[in-house]
Amino acid sequence: MFRALAAHWFAKFSALKATMTDSCIFCKVINDEAKATIVYRDEQVTAFRDIHPVGPVHILIVPNKHIQSVNEMDEADKPLVGHMIFTAKRIAAQEHIAEGGYHLIMNTGPNGGQTVFHMHLHLIGGDRMKHPMG
Ligand code: AMP
Ligand code: ZN
Repeated sequence: MFRALAAHWFAKFSALKATMTDSCIFCKVINDEAKATIVYRDEQVTAFRDIHPVGPVHILIVPNKHIQSVNEMDEADKPLVGHMIFTAKRIAAQEHIAEGGYHLIMNTGPNGGQTVFHMHLHLIGGDRMKHPMG
């Protein structure tokens, strides 16, 4: 009885997870199922150029695992988020915007301006923005 119930819930959870990631454009980029200009990738994160840049440099740093937003991150994800910020710092240097400075933005939820529900960090720089995102 317990085994049947556990199997049922496991199947349901797997189906839910599959639906979430199957329809997620950033999961598709991470899995090379959608095109993007990837500037950096490792076992934890993928970074690619935003298709609608709001500055001369606009790169998204995205965790390889699907987390909807900051609201859904677990305590165990704290090192991953640190790695996202550290990756942004390294890319800023590569893109020659470190000295001039840049924005690091994580829009969260509809009122936070989030439009893609796979957590991501915007790295924006190269110019002073009149209307910073947010
Ligand atoms: P946000 O509004 O914070 O959720 O940011 C989502 C960002 O993803 C926007 O700046 C979009 O321009 C960008 N974006 C959406 N789809 C793609 C894509 N396929 N490749 C690159 N950037 C994308
Ligand atoms: Zn995703």
